[in-house]
Amino acid sequence: MISISKESVISYLQRPANEKLSLQDHVLEKQSRLLTEKYYYKDVFLRGIVEFSNFCSQSCYYCGLRTQNSSILRYRLTVEGILETVRHIYHDGLRSVVLQSGEDLFYTNSVIAHLCYEIQSMFPDMAITLSIGERSLPAYKKFRTSGATRFLMKHESCNPILYRNMHPSQELSTRLHAQQLLRKAGFIVGSGFLSGLPGQTVEDIYQELLFLQQNQFDMWGIGLFLPANGTPLENQPCGDPILVHRSMICSRIFDPQTMIPITTAYHSLVGDQETIQSIHDVANVFMVNYTPDMVKKLYSIYDHKQSLTLEKTCRFIEKAGKKPSFTKGEPIHVYH
Ligand code: SF4
Repeated sequence: MISISKESVISYLQRPANEKLSLQDHVLEKQSRLLTEKYYYKDVFLRGIVEFSNFCSQSCYYCGLRTQNSSILRYRLTVEGILETVRHIYHDGLRSVVLQSGEDLFYTNSVIAHLCYEIQSMFPDMAITLSIGERSLPAYKKFRTSGATRFLMKHESCNPILYRNMHPSQELSTRLHAQQLLRKAGFIVGSGFLSGLPGQTVEDIYQELLFLQQNQFDMWGIGLFLPANGTPLENQPCGDPILVHRSMICSRIFDPQTMIPITTAYHSLVGDQETIQSIHDVANVFMVNYTPDMVKKLYSIYDHKQSLTLEKTCRFIEKAGKKPSFTKGEPIHVYH
C-alpha cells in the first residue's frame, strides 16, 4: 500500500480550479497513471447496463426515482425484455452485464434468480452484476447460486449524519450490514459515495476514501451529485466535477487494484474532453447503457443524463490512449 499523508490529499482535493497544482499534486496524478497501467495495462473494461425498472420504494432526497416523485413515468421491463437486451449486449461482444433498478420488489427474489440463471445458461462466459438494492442474505445466496457474481451496493455517504439527512427511511448501519451480507454470500462487492451532496465537506470526502480503503471494495464508484426535478434537492447546485476527478486519482493511490468507473453523471456534466482525461489518468471501467430507447430517458436519477453508444465509448477510450476491453474484466484484488 502506498502511503500518502492526509494533508497532501486534503490540499489536493480542495485546491481551487484556477490555482496551479503543486509539485506534490503532480506526483499524485503521475502515480495514479502509473498504478492504473501497472495493474490494468491499458485496459478499460466495458460493462453493458440494463436499467430494467425505475420503480423504487425508497425516498433518497437526491434521486429522481424516489417513490414520492410523481412527475416521472414509471416503467418495468418484462423478463423477456431484459433477456432480449442481454442478448444484444452479448452479441455486441461484451462479456459483462449489469442489471440495475430502483428497489422494486415486483421482481421477487425468484424472478431475479431466474433471470440470472437464464443469462448464465445462455451465456456461461458472461459476468452478471446486480444493482437492485437491499434484500436478505438468503436472497443474496440464491442470486449467487443462480449465476450472479458481482453486486453493486453504494452507501453514498459513510457519515451517519449526512446519510440520515439524505435517506429519511434508511439507516446507514443497515446499508453497511447489507454489504457485509453480500460478502458472506460470496459476491464481489462494489460500493461508492456521492460527491457534492449538500452539507458535505472535503474532510467528509477524505473519510469516504478511507472508508472504501478500509473495507476493501472491489469497485469504487464516485458519483457526482446532480439535482433532479421533483426532489427536495432540485434547486441545489451541482457537485464539483474537479473534486470527483481528484477523488478518483486519490482512490487509485489508496487502493491501486480497485476498479474505478467513470460515472454517467460525471460525463453528463463535464462532457467529452474531461471524461477522456479521467480515462487517461485513472478510470478503468465504463458502463455502456443498453436500456431500450423507449424507456431510457425515464431512468432519471438526475436531470440531463447522457448516455453513449458503444461506438462512441470505444472512441473515447482510444482517444485517452487506452484500449476498450470486452472481457469479463475480473477485479484483480487480492483480498478475496
Ligand atoms: S438512490 Fe436508489 S434507492 Fe434511493 S431513491 Fe434512487 S433508486 Fe431508489
